[in-house]
Amino acid sequence: MLKKTKLYSILNFKCPRCHKGEFLECRNVYNLKKAGNLREKCDCCDLKYSREPGFYFGAMFVSYALGVALFVTTWVATTVLYPQYSAELLLGIIIALIITLGPYLYALSKIIWANLFFHYEGTTPKKNR
Ligand SMILES: [Zn+2]
Repeated sequence: MLKKTKLYSILNFKCPRCHKGEFLECRNVYNLKKAGNLREKCDCCDLKYSREPGFYFGAMFVSYALGVALFVTTWVATTVLYPQYSAELLLGIIIALIITLGPYLYALSKIIWANLFFHYEGTTPKKNR
């Protein structure tokens, strides 16, 4: 159902242009030796994932937004569900959550950033673009 949408590419870490090739070097985002490392180009459509040196510096803004969204969502949900928790405990929970989800948010921010600049063009492999 989500095929051909940016959400499909983002949630499955697939190439933003063909939705077939892998985006990350390693599918396991918790492999810290390769965390967030991208492939140079798509195996299927030959899309170069990095347009220019430093292209993914902008992904830090996406990462920041994801972190803030996670913080606010967790704070509000925990405050509503467990009003007896102190602010220090809430902060501890959120810090633990952000550290745990850090590698995933890092990889997610890169694929979101790539999807802002590359658009779906079909699954037919096209070379020399
Ligand atoms: Zn591709």
